[in-house]
Amino acid sequence: MENLVIFGAPGVGKGTHAGILAEKYNLLHLSTGDMLRAEIQSGSPLGERVRAKMEKGDLVGDDVVIALVDKALASTNSGVILDGFPRTVQQAQALDFLFKNHGRRMNCVISIDAPRDELVRRIHERALISGRADDANDDTIRHRLEEYEQKTKPVIDFYKVSGLLVSIDGSGEINQTSMRLCQIVDYLIKHSK
Ligand code: AMP
Repeated sequence: MENLVIFGAPGVGKGTHAGILAEKYNLLHLSTGDMLRAEIQSGSPLGERVRAKMEKGDLVGDDVVIALVDKALASTNSGVILDGFPRTVQQAQALDFLFKNHGRRMNCVISIDAPRDELVRRIHERALISGRADDANDDTIRHRLEEYEQKTKPVIDFYKVSGLLVSIDGSGEINQTSMRLCQIVDYLIKHSK
């Protein structure tokens, strides 16, 4: 059973690639952004609590997303591909704990890299179809990228130390990045004990 994290800045294509890998390798795609948007859509009290933060481009509280991931992991026996989580070092530490609790092992954290200009270009492009308020406003986009730099990037060092991190170039076409990702997952499957 493979358990992976797809890591990267807003706009790099985490959701797209996590979706492709989930389908190809029969993994459950867990996106905390999608879970939070579903809470907002359903009008739940939790959705109401996180709506303003998400619209501003702030990260929501660690406790909120950790609880969502815990619940999702409890509901499945299949391998998972996490997208958009962990986004802080505290979340990464919590994920270690959650995986242990749920009898899982982390196989790999794959970081997809692309230059800032390309991220902004992709977010603008996505805004045309996503309908996401946080994709449509330049200040919000800038703030999300700042949140990434300040709070999320340190997660890279956390996983570097544990030897779980692989970084790939995601600045090109979707197909190229997808091919690189599949090579990594094929390798993991071949060499997993
Ligand atoms: P995403 O769909 O991954 O781009 O996430 C959209 C928004 O949801 C982010 O800008 C945050 O406001 C919130 N969010 C998603 N995942 C997390 C997380 N792991 N920690 C904190 N906030 C999150």
